[in-house]
Amino acid sequence: MAGLCMGCLPLAVETRFYSYIPYKERVCRLCNWGEVDDQAHFIAICPHFNDVRFKLFNHCYSITDTLYQLPLQDKIKIILCDYDSHMVYLLASLYSCRQNIIYS
Ligand SMILES: [Zn+2]
Repeated sequence: MAGLCMGCLPLAVETRFYSYIPYKERVCRLCNWGEVDDQAHFIAICPHFNDVRFKLFNHCYSITDTLYQLPLQDKIKIILCDYDSHMVYLLASLYSCRQNIIYS
């Protein structure tokens, strides 16, 4: 959780920063959508995590009924900054799912 908030998870947006790869080329290697592998892509877009994401967003909508109306970046900020213990569990599950795909 802290890694997501501080931007220090092994997402391509961070890991490729140190290889001097331009921002727009730091795309997700898990899907072929050509999107930058950042927190928003990981939490809300990458199709590899749809099952856990469904649970995460359902939980978010149950505690914040105006979340539907917000732009994606605002939703991500709320998820990363305004969380409870169940959201932490779901984010940890999301991260675990990513690690299993990458290292399997
Ligand atoms: Zn992806």
